[in-house]
Amino acid sequence: SIAKFPFVRTLEGFEYDAQPSLDPKQIRDLATGRWVANGDALLLLGPPGVGKTHLAVGLGREAIRHGYSVLFVSAATLLTMLTKAHADGRLEERLGHFAKPKLLIVDELGYLPLETNAAHLFFMLVSRRYERGSILVTSNRNVSEWGSVFGDPVAATAILDRLLHHSHVITIRGDSYRLREKRRSGLIK
Ligand code: ADP
Ligand code: MG
Repeated sequence: SIAKFPFVRTLEGFEYDAQPSLDPKQIRDLATGRWVANGDALLLLGPPGVGKTHLAVGLGREAIRHGYSVLFVSAATLLTMLTKAHADGRLEERLGHFAKPKLLIVDELGYLPLETNAAHLFFMLVSRRYERGSILVTSNRNVSEWGSVFGDPVAATAILDRLLHHSHVITIRGDSYRLREKRRSGLIK
């Protein structure tokens, strides 16, 4: 699809019973797409396997259903593309590309620490989109750890300042769904 989702997942397919730290009402509220209409940011935080990408894809599909343009990209791909564009003197073009969709989903920020230059490029993108479009970021790191993720506390503060201004932050706790499934089937203890 145009949105480039990594897999097919729906909100209907999400088992809330498996994830008690999540409020189903909050997800249903986000599924209305009002936060996208408002240009709000959404942070989905939590350890690996708890359903962050699943929910990001599900909410992305709902946004499309409500008529918004959506682009899904992994943080690693996004930052590689911006870094390369910068080196090639085509940063403006790339920033324009990623600033265009009404909702940009950036998956897995923080799995790898960023180079200072990458942190600045990400800041430029967030600033460009600020109060124009929505951004959904998934991360395995809490916002208090973003200074070390960005390798630069000043850039991290500037990014968080914009992301958190009109934002929804959902922190998912608990066990990996993948491991839970394996445990159930007796593959691991
Ligand atoms: P994360 O992005 O947090 O690492 P994922 O969203 O990739 O986790 O979830 C891992 C796998 O488990 C995916 O296949 C996802 O669809 C599934 N999954 C996770 N949580 C749930 C849930 N509560 N209900 C149904 N499937 C889930
Ligand atoms: Mg994920």
